[in-house]
Amino acid sequence: MAVHVIDEANRCLNCKKPLCRQGCPIQTAIPQMIQAFKEGDLNKAGEMVFENNPLSLVCSLVCNHEKQCEGHCILGKKGQPVHISSIENYISDTVFDQLKIDCMPKNGKKVAVIGAGPAGITIAILLTKKGYSVTIFDARDKVGGVLQYGIPEFRLPKSILERYKKKLLEIGVKIRPNTAIGTALEIKDLIRDGYQSIFIGTGVWRPKTLGVKGESLGNVHYAIDYLANPDAYHLGETIAIIGMGNSAMDVARTAIRHGARKVTLYARGTSGTASEHEMAYARLDGADFQFGMQIMEITDDGPVFGKVLHDEEGKPAGLGEDRVQIFADSTIISVSQGPKSKLVNTTEGLKASQNGLLMTDDKGQTTIPGIFASGDVVLGARTVVEAVAYSKTVAEAMDEYMKSKEE
Ligand SMILES: Cc1cc2nc3c(=O)[nH]c(=O)nc-3n(C[C@H](O)[C@H](O)[C@H](O)COP(=O)(O)OP(=O)(O)OC[C@H]3O[C@@H](n4cnc5c(N)ncnc54)[C@H](O)[C@@H]3O)c2cc1C
Repeated sequence: MAVHVIDEANRCLNCKKPLCRQGCPIQTAIPQMIQAFKEGDLNKAGEMVFENNPLSLVCSLVCNHEKQCEGHCILGKKGQPVHISSIENYISDTVFDQLKIDCMPKNGKKVAVIGAGPAGITIAILLTKKGYSVTIFDARDKVGGVLQYGIPEFRLPKSILERYKKKLLEIGVKIRPNTAIGTALEIKDLIRDGYQSIFIGTGVWRPKTLGVKGESLGNVHYAIDYLANPDAYHLGETIAIIGMGNSAMDVARTAIRHGARKVTLYARGTSGTASEHEMAYARLDGADFQFGMQIMEITDDGPVFGKVLHDEEGKPAGLGEDRVQIFADSTIISVSQGPKSKLVNTTEGLKASQNGLLMTDDKGQTTIPGIFASGDVVLGARTVVEAVAYSKTVAEAMDEYMKSKEE
């Protein structure tokens, strides 16, 4: 039975100090949104939410609500919190296609956005509203970044991203797909061609490696590569997944939907790093979890682990001597991602820290004036709502920068 959003909205206490809002990383005006919904004014509710968070339709589906808005709802202290995400989703989904985004008249200035993920889409919408002419460049053929090529369809329908693309085109954003900047075209070409400011929202697409023997074997893959196009892989029936974060849960659930019979996730520690819900769903779908397993190498037969020993307090205390060969048709490594270095390598003066993340000031300006960045390429692998929230600040800073150039 679906959640009845009307009943959920009626349960909202409209608290004077709304903790739900405090728990939301982008401070959605939840009580006001619910109030407008109860008054039957869906358009007002939708516009309000979109104005604050252009990716509200996505966030209503993929945010970690149990830790954020719903996790802070006062009703959750003794019972069930209001199902805020479903209300926000109902509003955003109903209103999105009709939503009219008011844009100021064109001011004659061009902005280049590199990357069509949540960060790039946010910047494109916000700066187009301010009158800038925005062109988005993306290395891939579709918009959305991880939303398109990482989060599986059963969690986030791809049709939503088509609707975003339509909206972007509707407000006049130009999109250049299949155009990785830092290859044929470089940032210096964008500067030459008159873009007054450039935004980098290229995310983190280089899988972190384990550095163990066997990682290059034919039966071993990286999570982010697999999720980009699961149909391209022939994994077999038994899958071992190294890592227990949210991406690993997506891999497990996707593999099961693609015919894998036995999927096991392995972690070195005593618990996973994925959200409780994601782990619970993976378990429900049929995945198993094994803890205290340190990967040692991967063979043609599958991964080989050492067992992590624990002291009396449960703290890790080295490895046992035995090695355990697990038999798996395929092993998928899911231990996070870092940024690719294409842009840094091809752009003089653009600096990254040791881990490859772009260096910026607190408003997102990189080491080159006029070039800004936000999202995962600055913060490291984080969340959609954080990429959007940060990009709001950066859009303001880009606007200020371009205005300052007028004087
Ligand atoms: C499997 C997986 C599941 C996730 N699930 C969730 C979730 O449920 N909820 C949540 O909040 N977060 C989730 N995240 C994290 C979230 O998706 C990211 O934090 C978010 O997408 C970051 O947005 P971004 O715009 O910075 O980068 P990205 O989404 O990575 O987008 C970057 C874009 O830049 C493009 N690009 C890269 N290099 C270039 C170049 N040189 N030239 C042109 N284009 C380029 C890429 O093709 C991509 O389209 C998940 C991440 C993964 C990997």
